[in-house]
Amino acid sequence: MYKWIYKQGVKRRNPLLPTAENFLQGTDKWSRAELEAYQLEKLKVLVSWAYKHSEHYRRKLDEANMHPIQLQTLADLQRIPPITKKTLIEENEAIHATANFKRLIYSETSGSTGSPLTFYRNLEWDARHRAAIHRGYSWYDIQPWDRNGYFWGYNLDVKKHWRLKIMDKLVNRFRIFSYEKKEILTFIKNLNRADYLEGYSSMIYYVARKIEQENIAINTNLKMIKGTSEKIFDAYQPTVKKVFGRKIISEYGAAETGIIAFECPEGNMHTTMENVIVEVIEGEIYVTNLFSHSFPIIRYALGDYVEVDTETKCACGREHTIVTSVMGRIGKEIIGHQETYPSLTFYYIFKNIVMDSGDAIRYQVLQHQKGHLEFRLEQHLSPSIRKQLEAEIVKYFAQDMKYDIREGVDFYRDGGKLKDFVSFVETV
Ligand SMILES: [Zn+2]
Repeated sequence: MYKWIYKQGVKRRNPLLPTAENFLQGTDKWSRAELEAYQLEKLKVLVSWAYKHSEHYRRKLDEANMHPIQLQTLADLQRIPPITKKTLIEENEAIHATANFKRLIYSETSGSTGSPLTFYRNLEWDARHRAAIHRGYSWYDIQPWDRNGYFWGYNLDVKKHWRLKIMDKLVNRFRIFSYEKKEILTFIKNLNRADYLEGYSSMIYYVARKIEQENIAINTNLKMIKGTSEKIFDAYQPTVKKVFGRKIISEYGAAETGIIAFECPEGNMHTTMENVIVEVIEGEIYVTNLFSHSFPIIRYALGDYVEVDTETKCACGREHTIVTSVMGRIGKEIIGHQETYPSLTFYYIFKNIVMDSGDAIRYQVLQHQKGHLEFRLEQHLSPSIRKQLEAEIVKYFAQDMKYDIREGVDFYRDGGKLKDFVSFVETV
């Protein structure tokens, strides 16, 4: 029945989805050369299209003295200047293509400050995005209509519950609405018949820990647990694996770019090379969405620090570029008395400790004032690890920063989402 409901939904929402799904199944085992040739072909189409139909890109390409015809290799893409979220918001109208589309899908995503970014996606863009997720599911033998449990953040509007519950029923989903024991017990009962779980990884971990601490019996046979939109700490994995039988896998993407990468059963995040071109310049990611015809996304500075690996051959056989790590958001900087530092510094501090001691630490850093940091750690540290952490902090900040390390404390939450670095310092 759920399959039938799902297929009806697809027909209504986006009839292009089945074709996109079949295509991505076919290209899953393509060689690198095949994938890159395909990218170049689609890139040429996109850039010519943008030049013809988007006022913003036409102006930009003219200014860069770059005519679409000059785009002959993937490297030529670098001749087009990157675009930022700020520009997507400010030049919104001029970026949208003026061509006539039969149907468009409205999309909205929050900006970190101020106004949200709104845009319209053409059906093929949407179909490719969904198909990429579904291909990822298929690596775990999951169909989109299979039964799933859903975790999300706190602070739900109770009045909206009933609507969500109906929607959930239709898509064979159950969700946890609060993190009280009664709700958790109901959720666990539902797990018996679930094929996969998804949601905020901090919440998946939180529930796993609760189940472990209270020794609650649980019977489940999950094929996949997927974390979305939050950093997945290594420190989550042992507990989650012990309680739910699997580790949390990652998916990487954003509303503007669509799915960029999905983790395979061998533990590597493969980029969806058929949909997006990923460039990494000085550690920062730039994404081109090859099907973003209604609102061209070309060399978009997404705002994350990432590392990619184009050499390693994954044991799963896929030759798609591997995103080895998403190291955190670019944005708020760490402000010392004298200097500023990228927020990425914390990634290195804690990575060094894991490398040396094997201890993954669940951390959050808050900055309330210039030249001072508050390190919040969920667990208590052994004296030697604490010493090492202090040494790492001094290594990166020297005398420029005072700090407190607080062990065994809760994390600060901004809405539902958990961030590893939160700064309250106003910068101009
Ligand atoms: Zn793989």
